[in-house]
Amino acid sequence: MAAACSARECGLEVVVLDDQTTPGGQLFRHIESPLAQTKIDSKEYQQGLELINSFRGSGAWYYPKTIVWGIESHQVSCTVDGTPTIFQSLSIIIAPGAMERPVPFPGWTIPGVLGAGGAEIILRGNGTVTRNAEDPVVLAGNGPLLLLLANHLLDSGAKIAAWLDTGSWSKRIRSLPRMFSALGDFPYLSKGMGMALKIVKNKIPIVSGIKNIEAVGEEHIKAVLYEAKGKKHEIKSSCLIRHEGIIPRIHIPNALEVELQWDQEQRYWYPITNQFGATSKDGIYLIGDAGHVDGGDASQLKGYLAGVDVARYLGIISLGEAAYRSKKVLQELKAIQRARSFLRYIFAPNPNIFQIPDKTIVCRCEMVTAEEIRKAVKEGATNVNEVKLYTRCGMGPCQGRMCGPALAEITAGELSRSPSSVGTLQVRHPFRPVSLENYCKLHSAE
Ligand SMILES: Cc1cc2nc3c(=O)[nH]c(=O)nc-3n(C[C@H](O)[C@H](O)[C@H](O)COP(=O)(O)OP(=O)(O)OC[C@H]3O[C@@H](n4cnc5c(N)ncnc54)[C@H](O)[C@@H]3O)c2cc1C
Repeated sequence: MAAACSARECGLEVVVLDDQTTPGGQLFRHIESPLAQTKIDSKEYQQGLELINSFRGSGAWYYPKTIVWGIESHQVSCTVDGTPTIFQSLSIIIAPGAMERPVPFPGWTIPGVLGAGGAEIILRGNGTVTRNAEDPVVLAGNGPLLLLLANHLLDSGAKIAAWLDTGSWSKRIRSLPRMFSALGDFPYLSKGMGMALKIVKNKIPIVSGIKNIEAVGEEHIKAVLYEAKGKKHEIKSSCLIRHEGIIPRIHIPNALEVELQWDQEQRYWYPITNQFGATSKDGIYLIGDAGHVDGGDASQLKGYLAGVDVARYLGIISLGEAAYRSKKVLQELKAIQRARSFLRYIFAPNPNIFQIPDKTIVCRCEMVTAEEIRKAVKEGATNVNEVKLYTRCGMGPCQGRMCGPALAEITAGELSRSPSSVGTLQVRHPFRPVSLENYCKLHSAE
């Protein structure tokens, strides 16, 4: 939305394709609905509404309910509300956002086991995440989103039985000197401290040094098992919310063979871009959290910068004008990235979470277990694509979105190497499911 606004201000024709029904992305999802005002922090609500109003008034062509499933040679293939369509453009700005890091564990597919993002959506819609409002919830994992969710759960009156903290305390202690950089964004830091304090005040039991989390149940989760300090424990619960941080959605850049870089702290791949989001591919930009997870404010600034730079790239505005329009925003973006860099370290994922038991299903589309991945490595596979060929892990309809990170970690673990050395799954068009009928309609129209 921010990119569309700045590109329009520079005089460009802009088309925005989004699979949601209304503008807002992840952060400002359904913010125009009357319910949102009561459910969202008032500052965030105002900020979101302002952006959406600017976007709606910008004159950009907006196509909601549109699934983009192919991008090649400056041509975008998509399904607009069920109808297959192709758009052509000299420049494409891609902003598919981020997703929760999927971490397989025994029982992760049982109903009642949720991610923090899904839990937040259910909470906003229903006011509770459990079938019976009295049932206690178990939180497990590590990351700012879990802290935010815990606060929202407390606000809604939910009972939290325990917070099973999977973070690494040695990493956290080592990150403390970086906290000074966070003082550059004091309101943000104090908001985080306030949320942590609320957890303490509500006497939520926090258990550290957690290993071997397991959800138990058949039709629905009944209990959570875990190990701490060498002892096994059980909590009866009908809802387990597991969250291990957020990673960029790199399926589209992967399909386009955009160059990627490994973030060693956060253990994810992200596309290499310049400060305006331009990738190694001519006219292709990657922005927002899909470029690198820096949060909503930074995503908006990255969007503004990409919109201006596309206008420069297409020769609509001069280099001087682009520099003039970008200068202040670039400074703001750098200040936010500096202040928030602390989060990258304090909430770094603990590599232990990828010690996945052999019998656990890693690829849910093709039902491939951790044991089968390890066996493929023992038989000679040396990277994720070779393991994929041996096992079909990552070959199902989600094309590795859910299993790719764990596949890389398990493969690397077996080889005693860094996940950065085993590559990423090759992604082919269509990168989102499309019916054969719609695919053929586009093909025969060519
Ligand atoms: C689960 C989750 C919960 C979060 N909760 C919070 C929170 O509570 N507070 C907070 O400050 N930050 C939160 N964040 C981070 C915040 O969402 C991001 O910082 C911000 O939304 C990034 O903006 P963006 O434009 O990069 O991506 P997004 O806002 O995610 O927008 C990306 C858009 O692209 C669409 N899209 C993706 N692929 C396709 C495709 N193939 N075809 C068509 N459309 C597509 C998506 O549906 C989405 O509308 C959360 C992130 C996640 C993943």
